[in-house]
Amino acid sequence: MRKVQIVSGVRRARVGIGAGVCAAVVVSALFLSVGTTAAQEPKNNVRKAHYNTASGGTPTVDEASKFLADAEANLLDLAVKGQRAAWVQENFITEDTEQIAADANQVLTALSVDLAKKAQRFDELKLPPVMARKMMLLKLAAGFPAPADPAEQKELAQVEASLDGDYGRGKWCPDGANGKCLDVTAVGKLMAESRDEAELKRAWIGWHAIGAPMRDRYGRMVQLGDKGSTELGFKDAGALWRSNYDMAPDDFAKEVDRLWNQLRPLYLSLHAYVRGQLVKKYGSIVPANGPIPAHLLGNIWAQEWNNVYPLMDSPKPEQSYDLTKILQDRHTDAQGMVRYGEGFFTSLGFAPLPKTFWERSLFTKPADRDVVCHASAWDVDSKDDLRIKMCIQITQEDFVTIHHELGHNFYQRAYNTQPVLFQNSANDGFHEAVGDTIALSVTPEYLKKLGLIDTVPPASGDIDYLLQQALSKVAFLPFGLTIDKWRWEVFSGQIKPDQYNKEWWDLRLKYQGVAPPVARTEADFDPGAKYHVPANVPYLRYFLARILQFQFQRALCLEAGYSGPLHRCSIYENKEAGRRLNEMLALGASKPWQDALATLTGEHQMDATALADYFAPLKAWLDEQNKKNNYPVGW
Ligand SMILES: [Zn+2]
Repeated sequence: MRKVQIVSGVRRARVGIGAGVCAAVVVSALFLSVGTTAAQEPKNNVRKAHYNTASGGTPTVDEASKFLADAEANLLDLAVKGQRAAWVQENFITEDTEQIAADANQVLTALSVDLAKKAQRFDELKLPPVMARKMMLLKLAAGFPAPADPAEQKELAQVEASLDGDYGRGKWCPDGANGKCLDVTAVGKLMAESRDEAELKRAWIGWHAIGAPMRDRYGRMVQLGDKGSTELGFKDAGALWRSNYDMAPDDFAKEVDRLWNQLRPLYLSLHAYVRGQLVKKYGSIVPANGPIPAHLLGNIWAQEWNNVYPLMDSPKPEQSYDLTKILQDRHTDAQGMVRYGEGFFTSLGFAPLPKTFWERSLFTKPADRDVVCHASAWDVDSKDDLRIKMCIQITQEDFVTIHHELGHNFYQRAYNTQPVLFQNSANDGFHEAVGDTIALSVTPEYLKKLGLIDTVPPASGDIDYLLQQALSKVAFLPFGLTIDKWRWEVFSGQIKPDQYNKEWWDLRLKYQGVAPPVARTEADFDPGAKYHVPANVPYLRYFLARILQFQFQRALCLEAGYSGPLHRCSIYENKEAGRRLNEMLALGASKPWQDALATLTGEHQMDATALADYFAPLKAWLDEQNKKNNYPVGW
């Protein structure tokens, strides 16, 4: 899931995250990764910077070079300390380990912001390309920079912490404060499972109430972040966020619209079919040709619809195999599950995981203490100390998740010889996309090669399989787009504080075709009920990852000489595909993402037609169903 750029060290991003944006939360490469040369620096000895930004004078390339070397060494040192503290904290949750981890993170964040400001000294200097790119990354790493004024810095830190804390403590108490209260997990479970419309509406309203008290503080946070961003030379905080994509911020916004237009026909078909099915279940509560009420899609935020799959009338194939049962019957243990995942990568030509991976990872939930069970992939020393942390269950779902998590680990290792500032994915969508790409290759054909099943099920069950995939992956797309579309306009001032909620729902109507179950006003602040808004974590990466994973998969399958339907392709055992993949991964963030993408796909643009290709058989089926049932399309 959220992959935190090292240098920005935004630890809070790992908290329970947006309920299933990816199968598992990946904490990969949390802070920075460590470069091999930098790792040789003496530990616990952050080098003193040799430049003096206050001293004025004309900056030189030499001085810039020294500045960058110091910056990378210091970031590396603090990042590794932060990673170790975080690992211990998540494996032994106590007040003390939480404080130690927070302290380590705070030091790293402070350094990151400080370096971003100091990098400005070299703005007018003509630097060699590698140095110029490092300077740019240093500035962007500030993430959401505070203004220079110390009082405002303190205020921003307090506002951010209070919003984050509000969300974390958020609860819905149906019987009043003295009764039983439900946290986000419990509300999420209720909304996933309940089919009682009145109950769903109550839960929806109850959870969304947590946003209202955040409104004024959120507005203040926006002011402060915008001020800090302009001090760094960006138009506003949204322009800073969009500057992470190796193109002009406004061009990137247009690029995102272009991708959405490629996807829209598929989304409209899915929306029409699902709405028709919900009308059958809920009657006139669901307008036959209007937006879908947001409380009926099996998810607090209506962001993924896989939980309403049982309400769909798609032809259910006879279950031809049950991977969970097969794995359990064979007494596969947690380590055996991970060995299957490693085997996928070694079959592509990647070296096996290091011995320390097996010694230091957490595979099973300890009986004697609290740990963070959300699956995550770690790169502790930015060299070779790779780990995963998961409470593995012997199930099909975890079998797939392990392949996904290891995708992050192999990416981390592929770029570990890059300089510290380049030890990251090509853009923030790439890391998730790589994990998901590998998971797409967990097909019946692959399971047969592993000897887990004897026969590959017939194509007749494919529509049902693709529908299940689409209910999470395709349904998510406009949601993934909307969160940051709203924030970009909030940061730019185009959306004013007295329109926050109205504009939020206008965008959700426009892109998603969903509407709140009850009238909303500006006394509400519904964006605050979604983790990434109060926690101030950028969201567009999830939209990009959903698109990129299919583009990667299409290119890899082509490289592997595969010519059947894309959803049946697995690149298992294909060394050529593995070589191409590794070439892209090894670049890290050293080149613009367009170059990394071209290394694998030959294409310099993101292209959502690969996603459309993957779901083409489903699109045809959905259109047929919509026609047959007279389901209107659009809203
Ligand atoms: Zn992931």
